[in-house]
Amino acid sequence: MTLRKTKIVATLGPSSSSDEMLARMITAGVNVVRLNFSHGNAEDHIKRAEIVRNIAMKLGRPVGVLCDLQGPKIRIGRFELGKITLKTGDIFILDADCELGDQYHVGLDYKALPQEVVENAILLLDDGRITMQINRVKGNQIHCVVLSGGVLSNNKGINLQGGGLSADALTKKDREDIKTAVALDADYIAISFPKSALDVELARTLVRKAGGTASIVAKIERAEAINDLEAIIDASDAIMVARGDLGVEVGDAAVPGLQKRMIRMARAQNKLVITATQMMESMITSPIPTRAEVSDVANAVLDGTDAVMLSAETAAGQYPLETVEAVHRVALEAEKEYFSQHHAQKLDQVFIKTDEALAAAAIYTAQHLKVKAIAALTQSGNAAQWLSRADAEVPIYALSPDKYARRKLTLHRGVYPYPIEQAGKNRDEIIMEMEQVLLRQRVVNLGDLVLLTFGEPIGHPGGTNTLKIIRIGENRKD
Ligand code: PGA
Ligand code: MN
Repeated sequence: MTLRKTKIVATLGPSSSSDEMLARMITAGVNVVRLNFSHGNAEDHIKRAEIVRNIAMKLGRPVGVLCDLQGPKIRIGRFELGKITLKTGDIFILDADCELGDQYHVGLDYKALPQEVVENAILLLDDGRITMQINRVKGNQIHCVVLSGGVLSNNKGINLQGGGLSADALTKKDREDIKTAVALDADYIAISFPKSALDVELARTLVRKAGGTASIVAKIERAEAINDLEAIIDASDAIMVARGDLGVEVGDAAVPGLQKRMIRMARAQNKLVITATQMMESMITSPIPTRAEVSDVANAVLDGTDAVMLSAETAAGQYPLETVEAVHRVALEAEKEYFSQHHAQKLDQVFIKTDEALAAAAIYTAQHLKVKAIAALTQSGNAAQWLSRADAEVPIYALSPDKYARRKLTLHRGVYPYPIEQAGKNRDEIIMEMEQVLLRQRVVNLGDLVLLTFGEPIGHPGGTNTLKIIRIGENRKD
């Protein structure tokens, strides 16, 4: 059996809320579920996380939980009739004082928008489906001419072409939602629309203050974030290539190149990266993907993404299970081509951290010796993360006694977390236990070569400093 290296993040929603569907999706390969805080209330999210974890435990599969904060998405208000149809050339007013909209104007949830925009700027509504240009700003009203019309319904989002809106990345609602995310023991918390590393640092501070240990994911979806990418990545544990909003702000054509740049940079900075939005969009209503979507998922895999994320496909679509199966199949196939394109050995690099140097040595050895797997004994998961960044062709088994570390490792490309019993065992017994885990998982047979990495002395927190090459079964005392 070939293992899929690329991880699948699936957004939960009405289409994936039954226990049965969740179980089928996890069995089909979902590694991380995303709870979208743009919808639902605290109670729903807490309950859902609990259900997911119970099912995951029953199935014996680790599943991570990612809580995605709504962020300062600017939205129009509601219409008297729920929606209107705008034609090219129509005059339309975005009016901070309007209560209920009609054919001529609509309200805004971000009251400061009129003060932040200027004449001639282009506004994109509903993910760019409708565009309008600002004629003039008059008090709390933005007068626009519709450049590209269509149906506009309640609460659709507004983006400014080129970015530049100053709304804070963490809204009052987000600050409350962080507490919910911590209460449900989120493994990852994603912040929407960060502009700078400061936004990410603030989010981390709030999470830690609330008592959470979640890793922080920065969603790159603002034009300004692109200018500060290195610092944002540095401040984050992972980034998300949030192609939906990003495409609206910087233009769709810029997104594929930026995706490649972001993935390359995240990996170079030893951080994780999720590629998101419209990966299998047509599967919301169709049981099979288009060739373009297959190609898109495959290309994200070839770019080196850790995970591919599904949004409406699994949250609200008609074929959530088929979509997960399709991503699984496409990722597996694309991974076969990955190593012919990436053979970075970092041979000319000077490492500062011992565990990073050791990971590179392990990967180098794995590639030049016929080993079946690399097993890393890790408390925090760091050792496995270094190994994942160094791009092993063989699977990396992360053996950790810490369930939080194991749950986080669900997102890492090529890493498979497993529990290990460590208490009361000496060094040799723990090494034997590592062998046993691999044998039980049928990853290896007696006589196979594997690499083990661990930190000596075992059981004490501290960096990985030892690489051991073993032949399975050779250390047995019987
Ligand atoms: P969203 O973020 O789905 O929360 O909007 C992802 C994106 O913008 O691509
Ligand atoms: Mn977004």
